[in-house]
Amino acid sequence: MAEQKKVRHILSLSGGKDSAALAIYMRDRVPEMEYIFSDTQKELPETYEYLDRIASYLGKEVVRLNADIGFDHWYEMYGGMIPSNHRRWCTRALKLKPFEQYCGDQEVVNYVGLRAEENRGGYISHKSNITAVYPFKEDGLVLRDIEEILRTSGVGMPPYTQWGRTRSGCYFCFYQQKIEWVRLKETHPDLYDKAKAYEKPYEKTGNFFTWSQGESLSELEQPARMEHIKREHVIRIERQKSRNENVTLAKVFADAESAQEPDDDDEQGCLVCQL
Ligand code: SF4
Repeated sequence: MAEQKKVRHILSLSGGKDSAALAIYMRDRVPEMEYIFSDTQKELPETYEYLDRIASYLGKEVVRLNADIGFDHWYEMYGGMIPSNHRRWCTRALKLKPFEQYCGDQEVVNYVGLRAEENRGGYISHKSNITAVYPFKEDGLVLRDIEEILRTSGVGMPPYTQWGRTRSGCYFCFYQQKIEWVRLKETHPDLYDKAKAYEKPYEKTGNFFTWSQGESLSELEQPARMEHIKREHVIRIERQKSRNENVTLAKVFADAESAQEPDDDDEQGCLVCQL
């Protein structure tokens, strides 16, 4: 009789709430699950702490991919060109490829933390041996269920949400909103300065690329500009609140953040880093 092929079950943690909740949700349903984290080496310090907390709840190691090679290696390979949603080499090099290499040619079930109310597609592997599954969608779990899973497990929400950041991923991620840059500047001024240091003329063309659309981080950190961004944000939140009287506060903030997405013609890139 032919030997049955072993199927591996893999869940990729991003440091965000949805993949964390999914790991908790699946822990006892799929005991053989392998948990991984593709480390860009540019995550917030809080994210590394959060991953330790999740690993301790799971009672299993979270395997770190890119253990030796992080963002700066690829940044040099790309001639010092910072990524953007139109030049998104980082997701491919730092998230997708390491994941596919880790899977190899074996049959893999890839667990993705998209929620039931979400319509966006995931930036997932199209290799024929990898099959994506969406347990939250299949079981009809929405944002409040995810919050509940995190609360009752004791793992909690990602720590960066305490200072108003909504996304996991690199501290300099170009998907970050203006208000999140302001909060980064106020909470981690050292990381803001490190992000700023990447903004310099691209060596091949002399073009000056910025992380945030339409302005450099040196411009964005000017006190008057930061105050303006904060005021605009409060107005947006108030407007959103009056439209959403029956939803959770977290949803109000999430909606307000997505409402100001600047040029989000391809949000798939952030899914793999930020679910
Ligand atoms: S978090 Fe942002 S900058 Fe980092 S790899 Fe993902 S898309 Fe690129």
